[in-house]
Amino acid sequence: MEREDSLQIDKLLLSSLECPACSKLFMPPVYQCFNGHSICKTCSETKATCPECSLPLQNKFRNIALERMLESIEVVCSFKGCGKRLVLSQKRTHEQVCTFNPNIPCIFDECQWAGECLIDHITLVHQVKQFEMASSGSVRGWNSKTWRMADWGYSIWKFADDVIINKSFCSGDTFYLHLYDMGIRRRTLRLTTVNPEYQVDFFVKSEPIQYFKNKYTALPFHISIKIAEKYILESADELEEGYKRLSIRVEILGDQ
Ligand SMILES: [Zn+2]
Ligand SMILES: [Zn+2]
Ligand SMILES: [Zn+2]
Ligand SMILES: [Zn+2]
Repeated sequence: MEREDSLQIDKLLLSSLECPACSKLFMPPVYQCFNGHSICKTCSETKATCPECSLPLQNKFRNIALERMLESIEVVCSFKGCGKRLVLSQKRTHEQVCTFNPNIPCIFDECQWAGECLIDHITLVHQVKQFEMASSGSVRGWNSKTWRMADWGYSIWKFADDVIINKSFCSGDTFYLHLYDMGIRRRTLRLTTVNPEYQVDFFVKSEPIQYFKNKYTALPFHISIKIAEKYILESADELEEGYKRLSIRVEILGDQ
């Protein structure tokens, strides 16, 4: 009951709590023109005149009453399944990182796309490769000549029920592998080196893809290149001269 009340307040107030210039929900600080029309901080800096009465905006004032209101209204996150209660001024910030937000922003920095079908988008638009993975584990290889500077970018591992986006690169003396899953659950993956002389299991947790653009990423799976060169990187018959391959068997173990 309480929660429905909040939702109704939310709907009623939303229209009057949006900036008339950009239609985004106000967040403190809120400014107003000499006539008292409110405008958001960004628009107050980019517009010369008030969008409602055309008074010049060089004389603008803070709207403290509205700012206090934004801090005192409690709403519920709009995304199905979340249920998190927030003060209105935190709603937008929360919804950007909410793991129930079905609109996932594209993982490529230069791309502004956001939507529900990230896998289709990055496959079609950014030509990210998909690999079919067996539930018993599939072996993936990383080939490079210059291991210390290599960047393999993104690829998609498609398991029977799970999709993992991974990003791999080397920086300095370390090989990094980020694992992102499309759901709200974090998965545990077993990564096993396949060189028989140095076979090791690593248990790695994936992160929800929603965390990606918000830089809330934990330290990814990583191994020292020095150690990898000594024990794990292999030459392979089909590789060009000078290339070495790191091979890892990847298997999803299940929920956290
Ligand atoms: Zn605005
Ligand atoms: Zn005005
Ligand atoms: Zn939420
Ligand atoms: Zn994109």
